[in-house]
Amino acid sequence: MNIFFVSSEAYPFSKTGGLADMAYFLPKSLNEANIKTRVITPYYAQIKKYADQMRYIGDKTIFVDEHEWSFHFYALDYGLTTYYFVQNMHFFERDKYYGYDDDVYRFAAFDYAVLELFSLINEYPTLLHLNDWQSAMIPYLLDTKYRSKNCGYQYIHTLLTIHNLQYQGSYDKKHFKLFSDTLDYTYIHFDSINFLKAGIERATKINTVSPNYRNEILTQNYGFSLDGALNNRSHDLFGILNGIDYDVWNSETDPNINHHYHLKNVIAQKRAIKKDLIKQYQLQKDVNVPLVAYVGRLADQKGVELIIEAVEDCVQNSNAIFIILGSGENHYEDQIRHLTHRFPHRVANYIGFNESVAHLIYAASDLFMMPSKFEPCGLGQMIAMRYGSLPVVTETGGLKDTVIPYNKYESSGTGFSFMNFSAKELKEQLYTAIDLYINHKIVFNKMVRQAMKQDFGLKQVGRAYEALYKMILEA
Ligand code: ADP
Repeated sequence: MNIFFVSSEAYPFSKTGGLADMAYFLPKSLNEANIKTRVITPYYAQIKKYADQMRYIGDKTIFVDEHEWSFHFYALDYGLTTYYFVQNMHFFERDKYYGYDDDVYRFAAFDYAVLELFSLINEYPTLLHLNDWQSAMIPYLLDTKYRSKNCGYQYIHTLLTIHNLQYQGSYDKKHFKLFSDTLDYTYIHFDSINFLKAGIERATKINTVSPNYRNEILTQNYGFSLDGALNNRSHDLFGILNGIDYDVWNSETDPNINHHYHLKNVIAQKRAIKKDLIKQYQLQKDVNVPLVAYVGRLADQKGVELIIEAVEDCVQNSNAIFIILGSGENHYEDQIRHLTHRFPHRVANYIGFNESVAHLIYAASDLFMMPSKFEPCGLGQMIAMRYGSLPVVTETGGLKDTVIPYNKYESSGTGFSFMNFSAKELKEQLYTAIDLYINHKIVFNKMVRQAMKQDFGLKQVGRAYEALYKMILEA
């Protein structure tokens, strides 16, 4: 097998969320299993700091519609994985990764560049693993423009992984000439160009990042208007649960914390880390109260409005303390700052993206809120469990697949969950969890250990993808 993994972000070079993590750990675990896997990703401005470790591969210039696009290709070996970077300064060397008016051009260009790379290096994947809308036009371009070029392209199989169906790459159809001479309904959805729909129509197989989300996206409620297209391909649609890298998320070696821990000393060591955090963020000084955390994007999907309402309520009706790390929609950032302003010793925040602070928060916290409206997989809750912080989650998508809800009759579980996306239900579960932490320590601590023992490691993720790749190649 010769796999190329295409991703619009890849840890440690670029990251806004879970996709970047997967672009790091899946190729790593496949390479460890001797399945040659390389990554192709844009060369963003932020990646320049790695420039002196890169080797220049070559250039390509293509003509699309009336545009002339030039790409420079670089490669870098990081661990066992080779990363190819697609450089086009105009398109990619900007402050942010996404969210520009010309994203349709940027990622159309990226998709062509990926395909051009193979003829440049004269190596063609047996399987091209695409991720999310940013690379979802590739199967269409491959079928309509590249397969006929040479037999290298002819036999490429494609897998499209959908990490989040909400983001589809939908643009005015006036740009259709970027993809075909005449309008083709393969990529049209509700009268607009839709990258993801093209991928759903044309990829050899499709998968999402948890079994439960795989079933949810076939319904109108979670299908984001693509449930019809997905249902047409339901036999080719799979769900593989994501995982986390236990080398990166390891409480015994984590360089971001001053007190390391494992199952046997977790309770005492976490208290010491909590004490550090309380001091650093000037929270009230009692380590005997639960520290409740959130780390993640400040987006509607993540239930941030529920978090804000619940935090305000809990601050007034319990003794819990809170810390929120995230960035995203401005109004959420402002509301969170306002909470800290009103309750400076009860609610701390860090508005921004900071890996190191994230590690500290997972390790210091006792509870971790993740009340998502929908959640394809979710890594936050898995990391939290690994670090002995019990997640409080909505029963949706991958959250339902990964968190075992508290069972008061058996004194067991790895977290707390609620069915409906509502602040009321989040609050109920938070109060239950806070009560357990304060009044039923033995049960709470038993759950902490049960959570830490869960295995969301990468080996099984790698094995599951390997099996899917084999199935695709043998079909
Ligand atoms: P999504 O991919 O939808 O954003 P996930 O839970 O799958 O959500 O993955 C989020 C990942 O990004 C986790 O590793 C989380 O710790 C990290 N993360 C999110 N926001 C931040 C932030 N502001 N600072 C540091 N890490 C963050």
